[in-house]
Formats: sequence, C-alpha cells, structure tokens
Amino acid sequence: MASLLLVIAEERRGVIKRHTWEALAFARALADQTGAETAVTLLSNVVPDGFTDLAGHGADLLLPVVHPGLAPYTAEAHAGTLAPLIRETASAVVVLAGSAQGRDLAPRLAARLDAPLVMGALDARFTDGLFTAVRAVYGGKALAEVALSGTPAVVTIPPGLFPAARAQGKGRVQQVSVADPAPMVQILERIADPGGRVPLADAETIVAGGRGTGGNFAPIEELADLLGAAVGASRAAVDEGWRSHADQVGQTGAAVSPRLYVACAISGAVQHLAGIQNARCVVAVNTNPDAPVFKKASFGVQEDYREFLPALCAEIKKHKEA
Ligand SMILES: Cc1cc2nc3c(=O)[nH]c(=O)nc-3n(C[C@H](O)[C@H](O)[C@H](O)COP(=O)(O)OP(=O)(O)OC[C@H]3O[C@@H](n4cnc5c(N)ncnc54)[C@H](O)[C@@H]3O)c2cc1C
Repeated sequence: MASLLLVIAEERRGVIKRHTWEALAFARALADQTGAETAVTLLSNVVPDGFTDLAGHGADLLLPVVHPGLAPYTAEAHAGTLAPLIRETASAVVVLAGSAQGRDLAPRLAARLDAPLVMGALDARFTDGLFTAVRAVYGGKALAEVALSGTPAVVTIPPGLFPAARAQGKGRVQQVSVADPAPMVQILERIADPGGRVPLADAETIVAGGRGTGGNFAPIEELADLLGAAVGASRAAVDEGWRSHADQVGQTGAAVSPRLYVACAISGAVQHLAGIQNARCVVAVNTNPDAPVFKKASFGVQEDYREFLPALCAEIKKHKEA
C-alpha cells in the first residue's frame, strides 16, 4: 500500500503557483483513503515565502531543494535532480500539475524512473494496491479507468479541477542537498507577453474567438480586458494567422480549466471541445442555433458576437461604475 505521495511544487519569481495547492489537495485526498503521508518538494534557487504554509493544506513532509542551477526551471535539471529523490523517498505516487511545466516534466520523470504515467487524471484511487486513475479519452467523449502497475505512478492533474483545500498536515521540513544539476540548457531571458495577459493555463476566465470573427478580435480583447481574462482562439483562427499558436485551445493546443470560458464565433468541433472539458462554465455566442458548441454550453447566446460583446461590455462598465 502507498506510503508516500510526493507532490512536485511549482514557483515563479518566489511565489508558489496555485497549481501546487491543487496537486496537494489531490494527493491529500488520496492519502486519506490509504493512510499514506504526503510530501511536497520544490526545486529552486531559494525557498519561496509560503512554502511551509503548505502544511496547512495537508503536507506532512516538506522537502525544499535549493541550488542555483535549479532556477529558472529546465526539464533536464529538474528531472535529473528529482529522479534520485523520488527513489530515495520510495514515493508510491508522484503528482504534478498539468501546467506547461508539469506536462513537460512528467514524461521525462517517468522515462528516467521507468515508471508508469497517466496524464490528466480526473480521479484516482488505490484498488487492490494498484494506483487506478480515470482519464478522458476520444477528445473527452469517454472516460477510461487505467490501473498502473509499477512504482512510482507518475500522474498529472488538470489545472483548476481540484480546488485547494485546508487540511492540517504534519509539516516536517527536511532540507535536501543535491549534486550540481549542471544543466546543459540555460534560460538567458524571459520575454513577457507584450499584451501583459494571464497565460491560458493559469487563467480563471478566457474569452476565445474562432473563424466566425473573420479576424476581428477587438470585441473579444475588450471583454477580456474588462474581465482580466486571457484570450483564446480556435485552430481555424490560428491557421488563418489571426492569433499565435500559444492562444490555441483544443486537442492540439492548450487544455484549459477556467471558471468561465466565453466561446465567440466558434462552432464547437470535437477537437476544440477537448480543450475545454474542464471549464466550469461555458458561454457560447454563435449566430447558428445548430452549432455544436451550444450542447457543451451552460449558457447559449444566439447573437452576432460583434453586437453582443459590446453590449455586454457596456453593462459590465455600468456595473463597475455603480
Ligand atoms: C487532428 C486535428 C486536431 C485539431 N485540433 C484542434 C484544436 O486544438 N483546436 C481547435 O479549435 N480545432 C482543432 N481542430 C480543428 C477543428 O476540427 C475545427 O476545424 C476548428 O475548431 C473550427 O474552428 P472554428 O469553430 O473557429 O470555425 P468554424 O467551424 O468555421 O466555426 C465558425 C463559427 O462561427 C459562427 N459565426 C460566424 N459568424 C459569426 C458572428 N458574427 N457571430 C457569432 N458567431 C458567428 C458560425 O456559425 C460557426 O459556428 C483540429 C482538427 C484536427 C483534424
């Protein structure tokens, strides 16, 4: 039976990312079923403020790993440092957020450890000692239950699906010393998004546009600015060159988990819907009443987005001013 469930934390500029709390909530719930302990490890050049607060979210063991070669993140340095730590701690399950970093790191870790991997677990439990996870298949049309034989099981969870939870863990802190990770790749400069928007993976609200916009994203940008949202796009909009690939949502773009997803002039092809299956609330704005996106939407607006969005923005502004 599982003894230690290890969460790989993420930080950016000394702040722990919200995905870490979510991954810990997932691990804590699993640990409570089995009597296992949870541990959180964080690899960086400093221990961020708030790391020990993870005890208040269910961490029994905190394993900070500090080395100048571990920040900023590179897959090679992190995977090379984590693999021996995971072996030493005899972790039964390794939990990562399904963020860009987690999705980059998880397969590398699994390969180094010769361990089974499940990406995007929607649920998990132990069945007869085997780690069993549920994941979406066929673009979200079906769910598959997969039992992983081999230890540790490496698992990523979709961002936004498991809300951070308060739970008191033991919170023992144990510094981990590691060898120089000697990364072969160095990040020389990070160039921020000139629009200054939240990345899609972190966004709580996304306003997205499709081919039906004809490339006119101005109403979408305006609503996104008002809501502090990220801007997404269908593949058709990206293929037309109206948005960059970084904005693409769907099977071959980003899988997102916002609280609110506003799909404007997007028909709702299965490959697009695959990327928003974990969105809490979908609002579809489309002139065609038969557009498949309406089947996925919590709220459907059969309107021209060029008329509906400015009217909505005007109402939001009035509400903000009041
Ligand atoms: C292997 C593979 C992978 C793919 N991966 C992805 C992916 O990751 N993401 C993705 O999005 N697609 C993906 N696709 C493409 C996908 O199949 C669709 O072609 C694409 O999603 C269609 O984009 P769309 O909804 O913007 O365009 P369309 O299907 O052309 O829909 C445009 C919609 O806009 C509506 N409309 C037009 N004018 C207005 C208006 N003024 N106001 C309101 N509504 C209006 C129309 O009624 C229509 O419903 C993939 C396809 C394949 C084969």
